[in-house]
Amino acid sequence: MTGTYAGGCACGAIRYETTSEPIFENHCQCRECQKRSGTGHSSYLTFPNRADMVICGDVSTWKVAGDSGNMKAHAFCPTCGTPVFLTFDAMPDLIAVHAASLDDPGRFEPRVVTYAVRGHGWDTLDRSLRIVERMADG
Ligand SMILES: [Zn+2]
Ligand SMILES: [Zn+2]
Repeated sequence: MTGTYAGGCACGAIRYETTSEPIFENHCQCRECQKRSGTGHSSYLTFPNRADMVICGDVSTWKVAGDSGNMKAHAFCPTCGTPVFLTFDAMPDLIAVHAASLDDPGRFEPRVVTYAVRGHGWDTLDRSLRIVERMADG
């Protein structure tokens, strides 16, 4: 399984797998990630080549404009509601998966916290991580 990142939603209806390596791994504390996760942040691995991501199962998507004005599509399972992945209209080659959707979430290696300015005192993250104010895609 080395070299393959695989995962899916909580009920198993959606599965994904890629042989690509992530180019960006972050926690995001923006309000939208808080709302969608139900807690202080969401966590993502972003892969550079959407075409290398094999996705099985029917997904529902919610499209919303980020702070930048660019549209993002949040894909989630219509049965269990689990947020699974995210794509970006302005960067169509990229695909980001939610860290806890991985079969082995221990492979997530966060390096960056985005929108830390929106973080709450009860959601303290590793202080050694690099803080960036915002992402281009918002
Ligand atoms: Zn599901
Ligand atoms: Zn966010």
